[in-house]
Amino acid sequence: MSQPSMEEYVSVRRLGKANVTLVSEGILPWPPDLQAPEEEWRAAMPEADEDGAIPLGVHTALIQLGNATVIIDPGYDDPGSPWDARFAAETPGMQRTSGLTTALAGLGVLPESVTHVLITHTHGDHFCGVTRQENDMLVARYPNARHVIGRGDWDNNPERDDPASDLAQRLELIDRLGLLDLVDVEAEVAPGVAMIPAPGETAGHSIVRVRSEGSAFFYLGDLYHHSCEVAHPGWVPADRDPVAMQASRERLTTEAVPCGATLVFTHEHFPPWGRIVVSGSGHRWERG
Ligand SMILES: [Zn+2]
Repeated sequence: MSQPSMEEYVSVRRLGKANVTLVSEGILPWPPDLQAPEEEWRAAMPEADEDGAIPLGVHTALIQLGNATVIIDPGYDDPGSPWDARFAAETPGMQRTSGLTTALAGLGVLPESVTHVLITHTHGDHFCGVTRQENDMLVARYPNARHVIGRGDWDNNPERDDPASDLAQRLELIDRLGLLDLVDVEAEVAPGVAMIPAPGETAGHSIVRVRSEGSAFFYLGDLYHHSCEVAHPGWVPADRDPVAMQASRERLTTEAVPCGATLVFTHEHFPPWGRIVVSGSGHRWERG
């Protein structure tokens, strides 16, 4: 595996007093199967291959604000871990960077210093890094952090009953250690940092807002998977809740567009910074 330099997979911005660091975990080929006429989604995603797969970025975020050190979506387990080997075997074409743990070490951030781990939803590409392998055991990677997810992704989630699932092996461990918190309404988890329900991708899907000195940043998780969904908010992948997702997208644009908030969705290309701007009677994604 090639070892990219930090500049190739880590991007940092100062927003107010918040330090926002984005770390790419790599590239994940995936067919979003947007519920729209194929001719239209192919025109909007010209990079799609013949199966409709597009190369997704996968990004985690580190927020440092006041006394809080917050990881949003801890991403994958480490390169070279048994989880990584299995995931690579199941995901042809996956490419990885050196990963979040290496990036944090390079930034001088100790796992023990992380105060919060905010998980937008319980799809494996977003949370499996909550644990790390120690000999034959999984242990909490951020042992002093409160881990927060939307209640809708926890209560009655059938994956918890499958002992082989990542949810059962990893987040159940975090819960047994007393480190898991559930939210079902907007919640300020640290001064200036809020989890906001945004269902659709999953029942408990949440986004994260950071406010500091007039600047606003949102980490959107999978509220969008590709930037074309901003211009087409009714385009939703199969097996999602299209009504809930469209309503969540509308709430986001209502809040984020007037204040020019800086936005990141997990699967944008690196570097994933952008914003949503008015375009005609709707909106569009603007990178940068
Ligand atoms: Zn995702």
